[in-house]
Amino acid sequence: MEKILVSRCLLGHPVRYDGGGFDPQAQLLRWQAQGWVVPVCPEVAGGLSTPRPPAEIAGGQGALVLDGVLPVLTDDGADVTEAFVRGAEQALQLVARHGIRYALLKARSPSCGNHENYDGRFNGTRVAGEGVTAAALRRIGVKVFNEDEIRLLIAELRE
Ligand code: SF4
Repeated sequence: MEKILVSRCLLGHPVRYDGGGFDPQAQLLRWQAQGWVVPVCPEVAGGLSTPRPPAEIAGGQGALVLDGVLPVLTDDGADVTEAFVRGAEQALQLVARHGIRYALLKARSPSCGNHENYDGRFNGTRVAGEGVTAAALRRIGVKVFNEDEIRLLIAELRE
């Protein structure tokens, strides 16, 4: 059975920085009922509390956080890089444990985003870039999709 790593907030778990979650898409609920879903919230797994201050990658590139080049900072300037990297490591452990090849993660999150990110100025400016966990997953060959790409993921799974 193919397991899919899924952002917990997309499953409705109240783990977002503001204490919320999202209404799960029907397809996710079906996968969950079939036992395909491995939930993860890298920020909570990395030791951060909920709710928590919003955080952005200074420069928006999660891969450079993994390389120790860029920090992840909260809107009040606290450095939460270590927790974000620890969360990515937890996700990699789940991937190894379950033989995961695909992930469906929340778009535009400093942990989970797969294409775009906020640029670290907390003014809503987006840049091309991945979250820290998304970058770590891509590096080991896991294909990362976001909640708007669920049809693409279904097509991959059918091949
Ligand atoms: Fe957690 Fe990722 Fe959702 Fe943020 S986007 S709340 S890190 S699962």
